[in-house]
Amino acid sequence: MAYVIDDNCVACGTCAANCPVEAISEGDIYVINPDTCISCGTCADNCPSEAIHEA
Ligand code: SF4
Repeated sequence: MAYVIDDNCVACGTCAANCPVEAISEGDIYVINPDTCISCGTCADNCPSEAIHEA
């Protein structure tokens, strides 16, 4: 199950910088590609806004 980014995202980019498979894209808020995400949890562990959760 891929991780998802919710409305608490402040678009800091920390998640994208830490994702080992480059599954996270920049936007108004960041977005995780569920087809690329390997559900490692690194992004959620590093998110300062606690905006990332398992789907
Ligand atoms: Fe990338 Fe891991 Fe977060 Fe999936 S859970 S988006 S693979 S850092």
